[in-house]
Amino acid sequence: MKNNNWAEAVNFLQEGDRFLVVSHIHPDGDAIGSTCAVASILDQLGKSYTLINASGVPEKFAFLSHSKRILTPEQVREGDPFSRVVAVDVADAERMGDIEPFIAEDGHILNIDHHPTNDRFGAVNLIIDHAASTTEILCQLADELGLTWDLILAESLYTGLLTDTGGFRYANTTPAVMKLASRLLAVGVDAAGIADRTLETMTQNQLQLLQRSLDTLTFADEGRIAWMWLSRQDFIMTGANENDMDGIVNYARNVVGVDVGILFRETSTGDVKASLRSREIVDVGALAQSLGGGGHARAAGCTLRGSRNEVERRLLDQVKQRLREGSES
Ligand code: 5GP
Ligand code: MN
Ligand code: MN
Repeated sequence: MKNNNWAEAVNFLQEGDRFLVVSHIHPDGDAIGSTCAVASILDQLGKSYTLINASGVPEKFAFLSHSKRILTPEQVREGDPFSRVVAVDVADAERMGDIEPFIAEDGHILNIDHHPTNDRFGAVNLIIDHAASTTEILCQLADELGLTWDLILAESLYTGLLTDTGGFRYANTTPAVMKLASRLLAVGVDAAGIADRTLETMTQNQLQLLQRSLDTLTFADEGRIAWMWLSRQDFIMTGANENDMDGIVNYARNVVGVDVGILFRETSTGDVKASLRSREIVDVGALAQSLGGGGHARAAGCTLRGSRNEVERRLLDQVKQRLREGSES
């Protein structure tokens, strides 16, 4: 045991029963991979549990065995609220969506996460911000619990590791990550198959959404900032949903000379969700947090209120200022 948190997390899982396992809304591969990995861990511990995600499971992660058991709030049958909750890859409680009715008043949350902006909302917090993915933390937790990495667990762990490192390309791709990936492949994980499903395959809806967003691509600050917009109309016309936006913001960030890429999206509530990606100068996690959101230094997001012009100006002013500060230091 490296410190208290590991022991507390182990106790939380070993001593409790009837867990609710939850991740963040609009789940990515780490969110679903972590939820499924905790299910495997609880299976091995002989515990009962319910898996929930306020947004459901994107089709591309449906290959993970336990994902079929992830329920939307509407699908959870009436019953006592849960007194033991495991939140994975969730930076703040709000990111779980509307699942409060399922948590008992005296309920305890085990908060396992790698976001530097995590606000430690759990009764027990296992926050390792140098971990590349939440599943990297779960690899170690499974070891601490003395469990076997069977194929179903390994596929879930690998999916989080693969997707949160952008296919082992981002700066969080450490020797530790590669060692874990190697161990997971040795269990029999189909690396090519998972990469194809989660990183390469696009639906027609997604491609049409990309097409529309590229139409709005705009540059500022001598090409150091690039941004795009997706309106409600874009989603209606393409039949796409919010899960189909995955990866689109990278097209802005990837342009040569760009440090910060942004995708603005009008939400159904009339707000604007901004996804931010940066190359090396601006810490977009800190920027997003200053605007009520959060994330990592290179990938973050926040929700803003106001007209299209106002929101755009407010965020771009912040980015420009931080680019200036970053370039000076
Ligand atoms: P994305 O742009 O893909 O939605 O999110 C990128 C990263 O920022 C993810 O790690 C995600 O968890 C985090 N993130 C995005 N939006 C928010 C937000 O509104 N609040 C917080 N705390 N984190 C966010
Ligand atoms: Mn995530
Ligand atoms: Mn993650």
